[in-house]
Amino acid sequence: SSFAGLGLAEWAVQTCKELGMKRPTAVQAHCIPKILEGRDVLGLAQTGSGKTAAFALPILQRLAENPYGVLALVVTPTRELAFQLAEQFRALGSCLHLRCEVVVGGMDMLTQARNLVARPHVVIATPGRIKVLLEEDPDIPPVFSKTKFLVLDEADRVLDSGFEEELRVVFRCLPKNRQTLLFSATMTSDLQTLLELSANKAYFYEA
Ligand code: AMP
Repeated sequence: SSFAGLGLAEWAVQTCKELGMKRPTAVQAHCIPKILEGRDVLGLAQTGSGKTAAFALPILQRLAENPYGVLALVVTPTRELAFQLAEQFRALGSCLHLRCEVVVGGMDMLTQARNLVARPHVVIATPGRIKVLLEEDPDIPPVFSKTKFLVLDEADRVLDSGFEEELRVVFRCLPKNRQTLLFSATMTSDLQTLLELSANKAYFYEA
């Protein structure tokens, strides 16, 4: 299969080529068309499977169609993963003038709040810091009121680490009609529950 055959636009196909991605990996081939169709996805996929591009490419394609407002919130368990995700988003979105913000602990919160109010296209956050910003700063929840995508990256770890309260706050601030994309190394009962709550006919991918 080819990236063009998955429904991706010419600029995205070209970007993949420039990044040395010759053909889609399995998780990309299965999940990209479903995400472009508007479905929720639960993908069981390890790091190294190409899962980041599997959600980043369709999100960026939506952004290319409508570059207004915060489009996606990506929640990931660690700071290091957050910066790695941002790097991939920036590389894949290099021709879109993508504005991507990392919101993690250990960095100045006022700067983060100001950067969020400027409405980046994609926000990549750890659960603890995004919860504090959403709860403590009344300017932040409206920033996410039209978000189209929520991604839980390494969702098993996010759900496993006692981040339930953090996630509840995040879920409350996002519109009901958003797409939810869950990527996880393992299946867990929490993921099963989230899958059952899906409003967009969730697609389940397992390698
Ligand atoms: P991930 O599983 O998202 O952590 O991706 C692992 C690595 O694989 C990243 O460095 C990507 O740049 C690379 N990658 C992703 N998709 C492809 C592809 N289709 N072909 C070759 N490399 C890829």
